[in-house]
Amino acid sequence: MDGASSETGRGAVPPSAPWLSAEHFCILDTDFNDGADFVRLRRLWEASPGTCISLHYIALCAAPKSSPPPELQALWPLPLPGHHELELNAGALRLTVIFRESPAALRRLKAVCDLILLKEPTLQTAALARLSRFGTAVQSTFQDTETNRALEASGFRLEPAATHIEGTYRVRSKRAKGWVPFSGERHAIVLGAGLAGSAAAASLSRRGWRVSVIEKRAAPALAASGNLTSVISPMLSKDDGVAARLSRASFLTLLQELHRISAGPSSLKWAPCGVLQMARSPKEELLLAETILSLAYPAAFARFLTREEACRHVEQEVPAGGVLFPQGGWVNPPSLCLARMQSAPILLQTGVSVSKLERKDGSWRVFDDSGRPLAEAPVLVLANAFESTRFAQAEHLHFKKVRGQVTHVPASHLPPLGCVLSRDGYLTPPLEGHYSLGATYDFGSEEESLTVECQNVNLARMPLLLEGTSVALDSLLGRVGFRTLTPDRLPVVGAMPDFEAQPAPPGALGTLPRQAGLFTLLGLGSRGVVWSALAGETLAALIEGEAPPLPSDLLEAMDPARFLARKRGLEAPRIPL
Ligand SMILES: Cc1cc2nc3c(=O)[nH]c(=O)nc-3n(C[C@H](O)[C@H](O)[C@H](O)COP(=O)(O)OP(=O)(O)OC[C@H]3O[C@@H](n4cnc5c(N)ncnc54)[C@H](O)[C@@H]3O)c2cc1C
Repeated sequence: MDGASSETGRGAVPPSAPWLSAEHFCILDTDFNDGADFVRLRRLWEASPGTCISLHYIALCAAPKSSPPPELQALWPLPLPGHHELELNAGALRLTVIFRESPAALRRLKAVCDLILLKEPTLQTAALARLSRFGTAVQSTFQDTETNRALEASGFRLEPAATHIEGTYRVRSKRAKGWVPFSGERHAIVLGAGLAGSAAAASLSRRGWRVSVIEKRAAPALAASGNLTSVISPMLSKDDGVAARLSRASFLTLLQELHRISAGPSSLKWAPCGVLQMARSPKEELLLAETILSLAYPAAFARFLTREEACRHVEQEVPAGGVLFPQGGWVNPPSLCLARMQSAPILLQTGVSVSKLERKDGSWRVFDDSGRPLAEAPVLVLANAFESTRFAQAEHLHFKKVRGQVTHVPASHLPPLGCVLSRDGYLTPPLEGHYSLGATYDFGSEEESLTVECQNVNLARMPLLLEGTSVALDSLLGRVGFRTLTPDRLPVVGAMPDFEAQPAPPGALGTLPRQAGLFTLLGLGSRGVVWSALAGETLAALIEGEAPPLPSDLLEAMDPARFLARKRGLEAPRIPL
């Protein structure tokens, strides 16, 4: 392979622009290495875009061997397993960097590629065929009979080598398949203007969709998304399971979004001040230390601190060691919702409650309780949390509505705090003169007002977060919100299943029929701030027919049909809690 690259000076880059007559073009590079091929193709595309308005380059990287070319240095993600999305050329060039966790990375990739740059012999040709459409070219920089045989067995046809690139083969897929991009009127109605609705609306709007958001309250973010501050940190698990991988991807996407918003004029309130997740017991402290050691994360993402190190870091006495997420912090959710709603032209109707949904002539119509039509569009996104199950179309989804009370502690009552502390509850640095201390989990309670009992539960957490600290308040201070929990604690993002359709024959989750044009961004539970940005991007990509920013197993873990699939005995992931 190296020989071929140096001989031609071109690596696997095709001699002329392969995208000239395409509107969207997707390239899979099976070994990004130093990114030289990417740089050449980027230059070629910038010089001769033809009709190609968007280029998607998917780079498989063997971290930490892969190092970015200088032009990507500033944007390059930390070498953490999973997908990382980079936006270049004002969004027209999308670079998906995938640090290969395992051979499954290719199998789990969801995309339809037009060109595959095959850099090393492989027998994973069935995976390549799945990523191809009719006419997809596989271009390799080496000669390997086994690989060519496997490609042909997977449905590709070998073409004569292009004479100007020595040692390069071109193989064309015979398969006529691929995803169908959205082709109707690009207009969506989004119900709810909390973190879920604002994320879905912003992600669709950024893709050029007309978006009408309908919110029953007087303004966005007055329900669960109305907290003063929320914690932004990922989950950890020793086996780096589905929930941990999804939360890491979500956390990183949220950070990108927060930095992007902060780079422009906005009233977003947040601070990447770090989150110290303390152990609840000596046994857990040991487990956290082992977990960090075995996962070998870069210290800029997560590192273990002993209690002494934690005290030095926080500059306060803390009761335990734990994991520091230096990029984590807090955000004021209403300011994030607002920034999203203002990031693109979005039509917002407030003070209007939707009572009925109807699909007619290829469009969704939504009505208020007097039967007055409010809006009509081919796509409808339910982002109205637990209230979504009031609609017949969603009544089979099951959520638990769980009350939570946060206590606001006046800044004068506590010593200065430079980072978020979390340990069976959390304490965030003050915003608008108040620390946020929370939050209770009050299963079965519908109480909308603050209660003394819950405030006392929160105040009792104080010494568990900051050693030797206690706080007494002579009035009720704080906020109540209701979480929307799913049985597996993961969000519900994607196309709504058709609950009435005849059961599909046993097979994969994807075989379940869906309700045309109906999508969900629901079930954000206790981590809605963290989930929301990636959930919005994933949903918009699914609606648009783009390659989603997640591997297939994580998409399935959020699929709204997963509960129905499990009930019907189809293959659907079971997520350990
Ligand atoms: C106490 C507490 C603490 C939390 N702490 C954190 C944290 O530290 N970190 C974190 O990541 N997450 C945290 N969360 C979770 C996070 O706040 C939620 O997951 C998130 O706000 C949910 O957003 P949502 O948009 O789904 O719901 P909501 O914000 O509730 O939005 C749903 C919207 O839909 C509207 N609506 C409902 N029905 C209709 C209708 N028929 N027509 C029109 N509009 C309708 C509602 O008025 C509402 O505005 C916390 C939650 C609580 C309650």
